[in-house]
Amino acid sequence: MDLPPTNDFCADPTVALCQRMVRQQIIARGIDDPAVLAALQKVPRHRFVPASLQNLAYADQPLTIGYGQTISQPYIVAYMTEAAHLTPRSKVLEIGTGCGYQAAILAEIAQEVFTVEIVPELAQQARDRLEALGYQNIHYKIGDGYKGWPEFAPYDAILVTAAPDHRPQPLLQQLAVGGHLVIPVGTIGQRLEVLHKTSTDLEMEKAIAVRFVPLQGHSYGF
Ligand code: SAH
Repeated sequence: MDLPPTNDFCADPTVALCQRMVRQQIIARGIDDPAVLAALQKVPRHRFVPASLQNLAYADQPLTIGYGQTISQPYIVAYMTEAAHLTPRSKVLEIGTGCGYQAAILAEIAQEVFTVEIVPELAQQARDRLEALGYQNIHYKIGDGYKGWPEFAPYDAILVTAAPDHRPQPLLQQLAVGGHLVIPVGTIGQRLEVLHKTSTDLEMEKAIAVRFVPLQGHSYGF
């Protein structure tokens, strides 16, 4: 018996896993922003996790990425991205590049992404990975994200993916009026806050209980 001419009967299994992740973990929990759902279906999450954890790339959990750090659970990435209220013209600052997955999701939706990472090895690996995937609208900095990235401020949205024990003043300053800051705050008993900056005020839109790795550096006085 002849074999089929191509192996197209054997579709890429990650596509099905990714679609199931979006249906069962994201849409089922109330995320409905079409741009966020499209980005999650486009970015190959398995390219961002260590080889030994490939089989868990689309699972409903955070994963370790080395250097004591983690890639967030898919739902948390989706929640934070939706809460940032991005448009195709947005300029976004991310603190904590990690493996670069959240940056890729942001880059699918926003115009420019600025991402800051304190561990040089993680920053370099993420940059290599994101460049290999073809992202050209992501800008990289190695440093303490507590201080933000003042040269390109103001930002329409700022996402912080490691938890300080208080809201960093430089980030509040670098947020545009009308912009959103999405940030986990606290040590034991963290809350993921979604804050909206108005011309006079900082309004809390919503908050949920979470557990992120601590923001290192300035905020703890090292
Ligand atoms: N957004 C990431 C999640 C990474 S976990 C992703 O999609 O994979 C949090 C990251 O924040 C880690 O990589 C950690 O090294 C980094 N980090 C911790 N403190 C930081 C600081 N002060 N400035 C910048 N990055 C920091």
